[in-house]
Amino acid sequence: MSDGTDSPAELMVLARNHGLDVIALTDHDSVAGWDEAAAAARLHGVALVRGVEVSTRAEGVSVHVLSYLHDPAEPRFAAMLERSGTARLRRAREMVERLSQDYPIGWELVVEQASNVTAVGRPHMADALVAAGCARNRNQAFSEVLNSRSSYYVPIDVPHPTEAVAAIRAAGGVPVMAHPFAVTRGRTVSEAVIREMVDAGLAGLEADHRDHDDDARARTRALAKSLGIVVTGSSDYHGSGKINRLGENTTAREVYESLMTQGRMEVVG
Ligand code: AMP
Repeated sequence: MSDGTDSPAELMVLARNHGLDVIALTDHDSVAGWDEAAAAARLHGVALVRGVEVSTRAEGVSVHVLSYLHDPAEPRFAAMLERSGTARLRRAREMVERLSQDYPIGWELVVEQASNVTAVGRPHMADALVAAGCARNRNQAFSEVLNSRSSYYVPIDVPHPTEAVAAIRAAGGVPVMAHPFAVTRGRTVSEAVIREMVDAGLAGLEADHRDHDDDARARTRALAKSLGIVVTGSSDYHGSGKINRLGENTTAREVYESLMTQGRMEVVG
């Protein structure tokens, strides 16, 4: 429902066809796909962990915090997502305004690429650039136009990761930091921020992820061990929007089981 190209229901079918027994749905700052995914998960016999990927920022760097099994109606958590949605929309308008000075794209073309207006982000701007013939694919649009070092880039006004971790725990969710050392995406936060997140209740670090090379995976494992938290793995599959394949990285069964006992919501199916 944010920037993947398959619907939540299609994703459950794909998960089953790939032989996955458990899958998590974690749209950016949105739980709008939960109901559709849950119905499809029951129908197709796949266990579904309902979650979200919360956008946060520290030290001028974007930090993604995964939340699994939280109660989306919990007021503090719901208010955080609502504020992020508004901030994302404001930022998208500003970026599209800047882009429209140099490229033949406008707000309507960008919104057409998204399934809902509050989810509009750089992937949809990339799709608009492709639709206008200014880029071959999302990847090229990101590397040449939309990366965080470009003059078109505008950061989103989102909370600090410690605030997100605390709000996730308040809603009964299990917080895991996504790809902490993914240097290909730009600068990453210092270990001091990660320690603060652990103090706020962080449960784990994502180690196995396409944007982590072997060194980054080893560093994540060592850091998690020293902090007394677990490591997870996720494919970060986005459909045809990214090269990541479904199930290319997975989480160990015992880690999955320990995380699931901490969440307020049930695993579906
Ligand atoms: P935004 O939240 O609007 O700043 O967009 C960030 C999202 O863009 C990330 O979560 C990724 O899913 C996606 N993204 C980043 N780099 C690329 C890329 N090279 N190709 C496709 N999608 C990307």
